[in-house]
Amino acid sequence: MRINKNHFNLIENYLFSDVANKVKKYSEENPNKKIIKLGIGDVTLPLCNAVIDEMKNAICEMGKKETFKGYGPEEGYLFLREKIQSYYNKKGVNLKTDEIFVNDGAKCDLGNILELFSVDNTVLIPDPVYPAYVDCNVMAGRKIKYIDANRENEFLPLPSEKDKADIIYLCSPNNPTGAVYNHEQLKTWVNFAIENDSIILFDSAYESFIEDKNLPSSIFEVEGAKKCAIEFCSLSKTAGFTGTRCGYTVIPQKLVFENQSINKMWKRRLAAKFNGVSYIVQRGAAAIFSELGQQQIKNNIRYYKENAKIIANALDELNIYYTGGINSPYVWLKCPNNMKSWDFFDFLLQRANVVGTPGAGFGKNGEGFFRLTAFGDRANTIEAVERIKANIKSN
Ligand code: PLP
Repeated sequence: MRINKNHFNLIENYLFSDVANKVKKYSEENPNKKIIKLGIGDVTLPLCNAVIDEMKNAICEMGKKETFKGYGPEEGYLFLREKIQSYYNKKGVNLKTDEIFVNDGAKCDLGNILELFSVDNTVLIPDPVYPAYVDCNVMAGRKIKYIDANRENEFLPLPSEKDKADIIYLCSPNNPTGAVYNHEQLKTWVNFAIENDSIILFDSAYESFIEDKNLPSSIFEVEGAKKCAIEFCSLSKTAGFTGTRCGYTVIPQKLVFENQSINKMWKRRLAAKFNGVSYIVQRGAAAIFSELGQQQIKNNIRYYKENAKIIANALDELNIYYTGGINSPYVWLKCPNNMKSWDFFDFLLQRANVVGTPGAGFGKNGEGFFRLTAFGDRANTIEAVERIKANIKSN
């Protein structure tokens, strides 16, 4: 028996544990200081009532012989896939229900999908980025190329000849930068993928934060994308499902490589490895797409977006460069006075008692940048921003 030695190529990501350790040490040494965390990547508002009511109904059904449900379809119940289908329809994207696969969150499928592709493929990943893409490919032993996201390209890199790769990860709205690709930019990526026989793995986990109607919230709004892309979406940030777990993956029928339907391959893989998401959770997820559910989740999203705006306004006032904050819950800022990410982390913690996330933890291009998030409480966000302003102005 031999183990997969690729695992030893994983670089330990100490980002969040280092942050937690520094905060713990500081608060032990300064027990009277109120520390405000704007580094949170998790939601803080509870599930909306429409979801809770529907899950309660589903639980009651599970307790009666006549309505009890055992194993469901591994690709998700049709009632939920139809809701997702009409959600896409409103964006002008026509999908068949068998192009939609319900999952227990986007993270699993973003990694699991790689099982369909040869390990000889080269992968292109933007830097900085959500770390899971890199880790999953390192574990599989794939060659990774990086494309630089930086201030010059507003953290929205576009491909050139040197970026040719078989598998391309894109994330828009982006974590950590909050940057969002427009139609023309996504079209450039789609054309590039088609020309080079590549597949795009498009992570749209934050699509519900897009308020600018001119920005695409699905790659399938771009012509040709059904021939080269898979979309991964999550209900985690959209509807507070980080702990409840539900998302969906869209694999178009037109997606064919080496004469094989990727949709069919994925369906076969699911049948072998997955028994579907719990009925109760899928009922809750379906409620998100009802009129009442949409109203209620939009209230929560509005709350987070208002927090983001409060942070962004402060940066405007301080004349600090940033991306995100408008169509995203993340604000990605240039550390003032050319500070390095961790130096700015220490500065904010010690001077303003505010915690954020050092950009260096998301890739080499994150050095000198910093991520603040909108998932905190309103009063705390306002207080944190006032403290940040006061300390940067007096520095
Ligand atoms: N994709 C991105 C870009 C994320 O930031 C996250 C979570 O933070 C995920 C996917 C994971 O989503 P889920 O909770 O649906 O697994």
